[in-house]
Amino acid sequence: MSGKLRVTLFITIMMLILAAAAITLILIVNSAAITDNPKGRLINIVSDNLYDSDVLDGRLDIDDIDLFRAGVFTSLYTESGELIVGSFPTSFETDFQNGLVITTKKEEKQYYIYDLYANGYWFRGVIDSADKSSLMGTILTLSYTILPFLIILAACGGWLISYSTFKPIEKLTAAADKISDGNDLTKRLNMRRGTREIKRLAKTFDRMFERLESSFEGQKQFTSDASHELRTPITVILAECSRAKRKAVSKEDFARSINVIEKNANKILQMSEELLSITRLEQGTVKYELEKANLSEFLSSLLEEFQISDEKNIKLTADIEPNVIARYNNILMSRLIQNLLENAYKYGKDGGNITVSLKTEGNMSILSVKDDGIGIAQEDIQKIWQRFFRVTSSNAAQESGTGLGLSIVKQIALLHGGSVSVQSSLNEGSLFSLILPL
Ligand code: ADP
Repeated sequence: MSGKLRVTLFITIMMLILAAAAITLILIVNSAAITDNPKGRLINIVSDNLYDSDVLDGRLDIDDIDLFRAGVFTSLYTESGELIVGSFPTSFETDFQNGLVITTKKEEKQYYIYDLYANGYWFRGVIDSADKSSLMGTILTLSYTILPFLIILAACGGWLISYSTFKPIEKLTAAADKISDGNDLTKRLNMRRGTREIKRLAKTFDRMFERLESSFEGQKQFTSDASHELRTPITVILAECSRAKRKAVSKEDFARSINVIEKNANKILQMSEELLSITRLEQGTVKYELEKANLSEFLSSLLEEFQISDEKNIKLTADIEPNVIARYNNILMSRLIQNLLENAYKYGKDGGNITVSLKTEGNMSILSVKDDGIGIAQEDIQKIWQRFFRVTSSNAAQESGTGLGLSIVKQIALLHGGSVSVQSSLNEGSLFSLILPL
């Protein structure tokens, strides 16, 4: 049962009990108040006794007579005035007077006397005119018995409910503390007991630990991959430096070393820029605004401006549906297209073809870059989106890459609420498609 329901039920039941107790008290006090003038009570009780004694039916049942009730003393006499049963706090020698309340004083106190006659018997009732025993007694009895009971009931119930609600929270806090103090993010709370809210909270914590764990793992992996990848060009640079420093090195070898150093330094520069872009995209440290604009025009102008040293003599063709309006960020979108185009040239074949197309399908726009180059083997297709992944090959283009371009492409697509996919066959070419919601 949920904690909310428990507390609500408890409060409702307590309110019901209290309301019932209050109503009962009011009813009792009310009826007692009506009869609470001592005279009224005296008349009532003497009449009750007369009826209860069955004397009206010609019998006499003495056991049913209340000789003392609510401050009223009742005695039974014969017609001639002889006492059959009962006693008074003091003696009263007043003559019997049927149905009349008589006031009399005895020992500084005032009493009321009331007599009733029936079938040869006198019923006499006496009460102290200042008697308050009935009403106060009722109120006090009720107060002394019911109220403490209700207070204890409420306190016990409240304590039980708060105990069962808060105990799991303490457990949860202790377990969470253990995980964070021990720096062990592989641990989980796995809370099986407790209210529904507590179990949900524990599940949320577990999900949070899971995300933290995978994000820390990713971070660790990223750092180790990055340092590993940077080490290769740096090692090459250092080797070339020591080679160039040798005295006997020829002019040509020196120039070659400088070239290698320059190439590798550029690679480090590119890698650090790309790493920075990935971090910015992933952490969202830079806000990239998406704006609704004409993607067709944007793509056409990009292709016109696109410059690449094309030693392979590749033919670039555009097939762009006009006036496709989409929400995108100029800088990121040009980065994405540029990365795909550079790859298409890098991995394209001599004298090959690249086709860039843009079209709409339903409520999506599809931007694709198709080449007829070296293609990607099926076993590598899923891996190309991973950071630093490069297909191992003797191809010089693949050697020169950083393996970060496509993971940037994927991040940019996600940031636009879209996705990227690839279709490719080895030695036949590849088709990269970006799908954007319109
Ligand atoms: P790189 O800097 O190595 O190009 P990418 O992340 O852009 O890094 O690409 C990862 C790998 O995917 C490349 O090394 C390459 O093996 C493969 N690849 C990417 N684009 C193509 C393509 N158009 N044709 C064939 N292989 C490609």
